[in-house]
Amino acid sequence: MATTTRGNLFILSAPSGAGKSSLIKALLEKHSDVQVSVSHTTRQPRPGESNGVHYHFVTVDEFKALIDKGDFFEWAQVFENYYGTSKQAIESQLAAGIDVFLDIDWQGARQVRELVPDVETIFILPPSRDELERRLNSRGQDSQEVIAGRMAQATSESSHYNEFDYVLVNDDFNTTLAQLESIVLAARLRQNRQAQRHAALIAELLAE
Ligand code: GDP
Ligand code: ADP
Ligand code: 5GP
Repeated sequence: MATTTRGNLFILSAPSGAGKSSLIKALLEKHSDVQVSVSHTTRQPRPGESNGVHYHFVTVDEFKALIDKGDFFEWAQVFENYYGTSKQAIESQLAAGIDVFLDIDWQGARQVRELVPDVETIFILPPSRDELERRLNSRGQDSQEVIAGRMAQATSESSHYNEFDYVLVNDDFNTTLAQLESIVLAARLRQNRQAQRHAALIAELLAE
């Protein structure tokens, strides 16, 4: 009989507008054993974003108090704001055997790699600069000034693609989603995880 093992931890990073949030949302709709960590942020909610669902929206003072209390697993300043993953956002889910996705930037990814060496990390690239700009505009949720700032940052963000285990080019959405699913499924089949999950079977098969 298979035993419940800890869930796997995944990081999805990308320049803003490449499709991270849409891909994670679609993945969660298909797989009930995958969840996304809800980060804390000091940025203002976008239209349609609600507190506790997309982010925990906090003030800069509240964010700093959480840093001082040691509540963050990782945190970083991204664009003009602070973003962080609380320990609480991930630990109970991983312990219950649920796979957890972090939608975080490359600075956060570096911190998490140090803490969880077997984290599976994925970087999403847009199919072109023009398409990235089109998506940021078509999302229709950020001001022209914010979009210009994010486009300006896209080059330096994208330069970190080579720190990640997997690189997906999000051209056709369903193709990218299938690629993402294949990474999640393959991660579950890694030898060390299968050895834990099927310890009883392996013991029986290897008994003299
Ligand atoms: P998006 O890029 O359009 O999805 O915009 P967001 O405002 O949702 O995210 C801004 C940036 O903050 C992105 O680079 C995210 O990956 C990053 N980010 C979000 N949550 C976290 C977090 O908990 N920790 C870290 N380190 N980065 C985060
Ligand atoms: P991110 O979370 O990386 O900032 P989003 O998931 O919000 O990006 O996607 C930005 C915009 O691009 C959204 O309007 C989304 O619907 C759209 N989008 C995402 N992936 C694709 C794709 N493969 N083809 C066309 N549009 C896409
Ligand atoms: P947005 O403001 O568009 O929601 O997010 C902007 C960027 O911040 C995205 O690249 C997103 O991945 C990143 N981000 C969101 N939450 C966190 C977080 O908790 N930690 C880190 N390091 N980055 C985050």
